[in-house]
Amino acid sequence: MCAMNEQESGSVNRKQVRSGGGSSAGGGSGGGSAYPGAVRELIEQLGKLPGIGSRSAERLAFHVLKSDMDSAMALANAIALVKQTVGHCRVCFNLCDGEVCSICNDPQRDRGRVLVVEQPKDLIALEQTGMYRGLYHVLMGRLSPLDGVGPGDLTIGQLFDRIQSSSEPSPRVGIVEVVLGLNPTVEGDGTALYLASELAKAGVSVSRLARGLPSGGSLEYANKAVLADAILGRQSMD
Ligand SMILES: [Zn+2]
Repeated sequence: MCAMNEQESGSVNRKQVRSGGGSSAGGGSGGGSAYPGAVRELIEQLGKLPGIGSRSAERLAFHVLKSDMDSAMALANAIALVKQTVGHCRVCFNLCDGEVCSICNDPQRDRGRVLVVEQPKDLIALEQTGMYRGLYHVLMGRLSPLDGVGPGDLTIGQLFDRIQSSSEPSPRVGIVEVVLGLNPTVEGDGTALYLASELAKAGVSVSRLARGLPSGGSLEYANKAVLADAILGRQSMD
């Protein structure tokens, strides 16, 4: 593998010397400039992905170059399709490919209960436990005063709109309980406390997931059994 890379970069350098360009790039350290523009662009775009450094971006770009046309186009099309068709549910902000997600549309769901999470991936982790049959609300983040993220930057207003519109006929037939499922971090806890006090004013019962979750951790990485216990053992914040 290593030998092959040396051969490859060697041949690129020779080619470049012969064509008269890039004489300063010799020695291998500035190898990126030896790539054709399209390859450079691919490496640059791949390098913007989280956790992908320049070495990994190069490796992935070579993988794409070696792939057959069908596999490479399948990757390109999957990226295009997800951006063109997937958005957020206009009710709960879960990911969906229509106006309203399948959970909000499911008539079997308990519409009196809303579980509030930070991100769609938290919702997916909780949903995989199969222990929760209510609705969700995705905040699209958490309060973080140091980073300038306030209530107006999240979907908190929409959560209160849901609660208010569900309670319009005077006997409440809509949302009766909000379960806070924020990540057990300093910012997640701060967001939960803020929401608990605001929700209490709106007259709904507030609970939070039980604290079997490791402090500082993230819902998306917790195992199913821990999440299921956290849902079943949720504690009132009233
Ligand atoms: Zn939804």
